[in-house]
Amino acid sequence: MVDWSARSAPSPRKPTADSIWIGVARGGPAEVSYHRTRAAATDWLISLFEAEIAAGRRVLAGFDFPFAYPRGFARAVTGSDDPLGLWGAIAGRVEDTGKNANNRWDIARAFNRLFDGGPGPFWGCPPGEISPDLEMRKTVDYAAIGLSERRAVEARIARTQPAWKLYTTGSVGSQVLLGLPRLHQLRLHFGTDLAVSPFEPAQTPIVLAEIYPSMLAADVSARRDPDEILDAAQVRVTAEAFRSLGPGQLSAMLAEGDPVEGWILGLGHEEELAAGLGPALLRPPPLRDDCFALPPGVDWTPVAEAVERLKAALHPVAKSETVLIAGASGRILAADISARRSHPPHANSAVDGFGFAQGSIGSAPHHLPLVEGRAAAGAPFDGTVPPGKALRILTGAPLPAGVDTVVLEEDCTIASDAIAFRGPLRRGANTRPAGEDVASGAAVLPAGHRLSAPDLALLAATGHGDVKVFERLKVAVLSTGDELAEAGQGASAATPDANRPMLAALLSGWGHDVVDLGLAPDDADAVRAALDAGAAGADAILTSGGASAGDEDHVSALLKSEGHLTSWRIALKPGRPLALATWRGIPVFGLPGNPVAAFVCALLFARPALSVLAGGGWIEPQRFTVPAAFEKRKKPGRNEYLRARLDGAGRAEVFPSEGSGRISGLSWSTGLVELGPKERRIAPGDPVLFLPYAGFGI
Ligand code: AMP
Ligand code: MG
Repeated sequence: MVDWSARSAPSPRKPTADSIWIGVARGGPAEVSYHRTRAAATDWLISLFEAEIAAGRRVLAGFDFPFAYPRGFARAVTGSDDPLGLWGAIAGRVEDTGKNANNRWDIARAFNRLFDGGPGPFWGCPPGEISPDLEMRKTVDYAAIGLSERRAVEARIARTQPAWKLYTTGSVGSQVLLGLPRLHQLRLHFGTDLAVSPFEPAQTPIVLAEIYPSMLAADVSARRDPDEILDAAQVRVTAEAFRSLGPGQLSAMLAEGDPVEGWILGLGHEEELAAGLGPALLRPPPLRDDCFALPPGVDWTPVAEAVERLKAALHPVAKSETVLIAGASGRILAADISARRSHPPHANSAVDGFGFAQGSIGSAPHHLPLVEGRAAAGAPFDGTVPPGKALRILTGAPLPAGVDTVVLEEDCTIASDAIAFRGPLRRGANTRPAGEDVASGAAVLPAGHRLSAPDLALLAATGHGDVKVFERLKVAVLSTGDELAEAGQGASAATPDANRPMLAALLSGWGHDVVDLGLAPDDADAVRAALDAGAAGADAILTSGGASAGDEDHVSALLKSEGHLTSWRIALKPGRPLALATWRGIPVFGLPGNPVAAFVCALLFARPALSVLAGGGWIEPQRFTVPAAFEKRKKPGRNEYLRARLDGAGRAEVFPSEGSGRISGLSWSTGLVELGPKERRIAPGDPVLFLPYAGFGI
């Protein structure tokens, strides 16, 4: 089973996702190999097929890209509906070198030009490739050019991408353009020993078929090893699944499909395929079920203690992956980073001016003859500057041999063949030594650090093109309550679900992927189904509503009877209680229903806890001491969080109402004022702690 790739350069030496991966299943577990170019992978397959034929065995070779386009395209190109004729026509146009360099954009443009009177069917390209014949976005009306957007088989599966889309996330179009010519090459090589399903009878030693590994997504994820690259797990598990089929089952599947549009092998037989895989490896749950338990006798937990307990209960659960630095903003480093090269890489000039050897120029005023030529950042001077002479040098240019000092051009009188200046200049003036900023090998950023925009600049400057980061944590969000309706919908008496959009926005701002579990009524079955969906697709779940101990509080009732719940009665306003539980090994943060309380608890507890799970460690809020612009009395023994913002004089003013349903006050505020357990009375001018939302990543 082959996971194909449309890369335009060889894949990295170190096995990486989105490259060519091949899983071969014979007797025991499948063997997985990694291939850096399409040419190398094709040669490897040819040797494999030849060896299998020589040994008298047959091979089913699956490839994860469409073998045909929607009906009508082959005819438009070749005059016939025969998909294999189209393979030859594409192969005749595509150039794809041994290093993956290829002309796919030109091919797409040429095909698009076959459709007059509007954009052709192919779309999607990098900005530099945009032209009237190939656009970045979809503008085509498929009906108007007599095609459909998807093949019939693709319309049966949610989330398949059309073969017309050539660029950006998840697109398969470029893989088709660069894959079919390689399959055509295999056809030519093996002649009558090879057939293509479902277009030819699958009776030959080698049979090629289209596969779609996401068909077995759940089985793959249940069997994927913690550090296994997804592509590797997909080809491994898919190969084992097809291998497990009996000959009757497989030939029945190979007989299905459409002679023009082809087929995805095994579609509709997912259960048969999965059945042959046997039981998945049992893996320990990410967290211990009792991780949130409190010692007996604990009644009200102070905020500081709740924070300490939560910190101790959690550990990272995210796996790691390697990503290009351009896409790494907001990601958390999974390994310490040190500089692969010095920054700057060589000694260079900090200004536009003239360079010379400081020790060779005698006493001021100076009059130096100029050497012919100049040194620029991208065009170094490769000669030597003789003692007593100077060379024109521009900012960033490497210092040539014979130069250790630069005089600013503004400080010189300049003739065509000489300069004069006063000085004095110390040795090394206006230059930057190599490695002045960061020396090669120096520690740059630690594991657990969340990458910011400036960090990406630092990584690039110190020689990193990609970095190992934790996979994004998937966090599911559920709102509960019979009274709730989706924002903008529902009867006028319904309460709009304000928490879910707010919590989802917080989570994505914190760098997590949001899984939307929607709204559940106050009904145990509905909440159970939602939690099950969350546990299947996410690393953690945030719920809001139904978390105290009232009759309608199905979330806490359910977590108590079927999950592992500890209701933490935290001494804070607004916010108690916080339901902390595990559901099938996944942590559940049961936030209060009141939007203000849900917000405060999310910032104080969910944010740092999720950061630990995501690999980023516990993160404290930023706290600034500022004078109060308000007056307040409070009960001792608990923390209070007031919606606040700074006035023009830098004093914290607070929202006039503390009502925990006052969403307007949340929107009004730009931070929280935190009052500790001992405080009773705050007078204007007293120092208070202001926690800006910006410090919570909002
Ligand atoms: P509960 O925690 O379920 O008792 O809810 C407390 C209060 O918060 C009730 O007034 C609920 O209507 C309100 N509430 C609960 N969930 C939401 C939500 N998602 N959006 C807005 N208000 C909510
Ligand atoms: Mg409720």
